[in-house]
Amino acid sequence: MPRHLERHYAERIGWLRAAVLGANDGIVSTASLVVGVAAAQAAHADILIAGMAGLVAGAMSMAAGEFVSVSSQADTEKADLARERLELTQDPESELAELTAIYVGRGLDAALARQVADQLTAHDALAAHARDELGLTEVHTARPIQAAIASALTFALGAALPLLIAWLSPLTVVIPAVAVGSLLLLAAMGALASSAGGAKVLVGAARVTFWGAVAMAATAAIGALFGTTVA
Ligand SMILES: [Zn+2]
Repeated sequence: MPRHLERHYAERIGWLRAAVLGANDGIVSTASLVVGVAAAQAAHADILIAGMAGLVAGAMSMAAGEFVSVSSQADTEKADLARERLELTQDPESELAELTAIYVGRGLDAALARQVADQLTAHDALAAHARDELGLTEVHTARPIQAAIASALTFALGAALPLLIAWLSPLTVVIPAVAVGSLLLLAAMGALASSAGGAKVLVGAARVTFWGAVAMAATAAIGALFGTTVA
């Protein structure tokens, strides 16, 4: 049997969770916006304009937020690596002892740990310390631009779904159509994220559907209130 056929949830979960969360944000915030504006007795065109503005604004703010947070993570990683590089040149002996201690802590006997530390240090000292001391691996390196684009795209994809339902529905049924359609989408997304992460599917689906329903009910109530008082 070829090595590593078993599938590791952790490897997939990182990017899938971010994608599903981004899409969920898009669905919940745009569906709530559409339901709220519709509840305020707006015209069909105005509902769609508000929804489209919500999609673009949400995608841009997700991108900005992700870029800033991942950039600061990248800055921290760079600073850690620079300090490690300095320590390796200033005090290679205690760095070697530190690496050896890490391998002993992972279960190697002292002699073997020292041998492994020696060989990995000779091969690429910074890479060994980055991976085994700082926990920085190629896979988990912070990529701000990719992260920003990914979260903006997943948000926009999520937001486009309730917007499409609103566009295809006659004005009289926009609210129930968008509400039911979006809740079904959220349940499917929640189930997908849970199954990908090896968690209980129904719990995941119920959790995100519940909060989606609360968000839509709140905006519908406020929309209806504003619709009667402002009109
Ligand atoms: Zn070190």
